[in-house]
Amino acid sequence: MSDPLPFWKRKSLSAMSRAEWESLCDGCGRCCLHKIRDEDTEEIHFTNVACRMLDTQGCGCRDYANRRDHVPDCVQLKPRMLAALDWLPPTCAYHILARGGDLPDWHPLVSGDPESVHRAGISVRGRAVSEREAGALEDHVVTWPGRWPPASRKAGQATRAAAAPVAAPVAAPAAAGAKPPMKASPKTNVKTGQRKAG
Ligand code: SF4
Ligand code: SF4
Repeated sequence: MSDPLPFWKRKSLSAMSRAEWESLCDGCGRCCLHKIRDEDTEEIHFTNVACRMLDTQGCGCRDYANRRDHVPDCVQLKPRMLAALDWLPPTCAYHILARGGDLPDWHPLVSGDPESVHRAGISVRGRAVSEREAGALEDHVVTWPGRWPPASRKAGQATRAAAAPVAAPVAAPAAAGAKPPMKASPKTNVKTGQRKAG
């Protein structure tokens, strides 16, 4: 008898248990980077500036259970929110599955190894700077959090093809080094939580 399909292929996001939902997070840390929304165009620009609570090497929240005590605007993702969000990284498992894709081969649920997300160049390890040290967000606009690393392109292409028919307003990030007319403020700065409760 063949093995049953893994839960993320059998269940909708809203039907998953809390443990299943949480396990979808690959621990990349990309969603804990600050984003800037252009107030004129609504376009999202990623930065390499991490939330003060992110361990930029381990890529996890330093106090996940109590994170909103430290960062009140840390967003708690829920299945019903996913279709409308335009600031999740395209590599995020929640973003992928909400658009009909499958988990890529570097995802720990597929590889069986939590380090695979780092080896594949998906995580922020070694590439993020804490907001405590960064200075102006506008000086840290980068494109890589909005892209698939070349080494993962094969998996990414398959997933993106599945995602294509769904209207997903994920804005293209700015070119590297570009400084579009944008402001960082509590209103325009988008920050998300890393691991989510369903
Ligand atoms: S929720 Fe954040 S850390 Fe988890 S997979 Fe998505 S982008 Fe990565
Ligand atoms: S989960 Fe929330 S509080 Fe923790 S590092 Fe990420 S954005 Fe910051």
